[in-house]
Amino acid sequence: MAQLSERLSELAARVAELEAERELTLRLAQTDSLTGLVNRGAFTSGLCERLDEARAAGGQVALFVIDLDRFKSLNDSLGHHAGDMLLAELGHRLSEDALPGELVARLGGDEFAVISSTTDVAARAERLLQTLGQQHVIYGRTVASGGSVGVAVFPRDASDAVDLQRFADMALYRAKSGGGRRWHCFDSDLRAASEARRTLEAELRRAIPAGEIEPWFQPIVDAMTARMVGVEVLARWRHPQKGLLAPGAFVPMAEELGLIRTIDEAVFEAACATTAPWVADGLIEVVSVNVSPRDLLDPGFSRKLIGRLGKTALPATALTVEITETFLLQDLALARRHIERLAARGVNVALDDFGTGYSNLRALMHLPIQTVKLDRSLIDDVGRDARVSKLVAAMLHAARSLGVRIVAEGVEHESQALFLRSAGCERMQGYFFARPMPADAMEAMLREANGPALPLAVAS
Ligand code: C2E
Ligand code: CA
Ligand code: CA
Repeated sequence: MAQLSERLSELAARVAELEAERELTLRLAQTDSLTGLVNRGAFTSGLCERLDEARAAGGQVALFVIDLDRFKSLNDSLGHHAGDMLLAELGHRLSEDALPGELVARLGGDEFAVISSTTDVAARAERLLQTLGQQHVIYGRTVASGGSVGVAVFPRDASDAVDLQRFADMALYRAKSGGGRRWHCFDSDLRAASEARRTLEAELRRAIPAGEIEPWFQPIVDAMTARMVGVEVLARWRHPQKGLLAPGAFVPMAEELGLIRTIDEAVFEAACATTAPWVADGLIEVVSVNVSPRDLLDPGFSRKLIGRLGKTALPATALTVEITETFLLQDLALARRHIERLAARGVNVALDDFGTGYSNLRALMHLPIQTVKLDRSLIDDVGRDARVSKLVAAMLHAARSLGVRIVAEGVEHESQALFLRSAGCERMQGYFFARPMPADAMEAMLREANGPALPLAVAS
């Protein structure tokens, strides 16, 4: 009997231990380890719970989202460890300053949030700004962080957690673009912008199957002869009411919505069908298509592209796939696999927008990239700014010695074209030669120019 009761109390103790362990694991899973605040997962469930309570009791919930101003540059100049200390310190102050019942969370990076039932949103936002603007001493240096705050209120602005977060984020973005160290509440302007975007989203989903996204073409010319040797394919949306839209108006949104792959595939197929006869007739040698970093994150991207290309009449050796450095930075190993797989089939890969980001020379040396497209921002100042001219000339020289071909983008003036040609640039593209145009105009231009060489000064 005594033995049994001993055994039972042992068991009870073990159950209590396990229970405590479970609680600890649960708490750790809900806690941001750096600041000790609630993490994003627990914040989301906390927000839903509070909205349910407010719904039942007829109350309101104010969501404040916070982003530090210039945190990245502080992090870069002071080092990551100091950056972490600043975040931990701030997390501590935010939680000390919290009003009773508030939930303070770190959403990730330098983003925080406060869920509050306060009715005086303005006073609370001002107080948050004060907390964020306080000075901290880190490694003996005084650091003033400062941050911006976006606010949205349930039920006034939004009726669910998803919209409430989206609207608070929009307000935050407005506060940041107003210069930072300020707060902004979701308002009628932001509501109008949000509704316009919703409409555009719905229209874009419909536009793809309706065939409203079409390929346009801009010639790529040989720098020595000014003959058109290729085309870059650029997407356009023929919107039934708004007219022709450039990619800036829909590509970022399509990327966010996960629609970019469908767009790129549609543009690719239409472009191959259009340009295959141009290549067959000897009008051009190169068809250059853009792919989004989103497409490239799919490990099957290159295999699928080769498969789709095989169903068209365009020879693989005529195709160039333009990829951006952003992607190389995201996953270099995957980039290598795609590039090698494409290169093995004879498809050329070009590094687009070179000179805007990290200008990864290592990638150029170690990946089989045959073409680099020098970004317009560099070409803008060529021939005008001596330092930029020298830099571009040195890049051209380096590229030649690596056996990489350079295409200069955004050539708008004859002086730029002449400078680039004298510096050994092989190919150029830009408004000086021609703007992007629809297929029929492009074909007419190619057929006309196919005879005698184009003089360098021909613009359209
Ligand atoms: P990008 O690949 O850098 O394309 C070059 C952009 O520069 C094009 O803008 C072109 O119209 C413009 N441009 C060309 N020459 C000049 C010039 O002399 N001066 C100036 N100011 N601009 C010039 P566009 O057509 O608006 O395309 C913008 C960006 O959208 C492209 O930049 C590319 O990143 C993206 N994009 C275009 N089509 C597609 C597509 O089918 N799929 C994907 N994923 N992205 C695309
Ligand atoms: Ca491009
Ligand atoms: Ca580019």
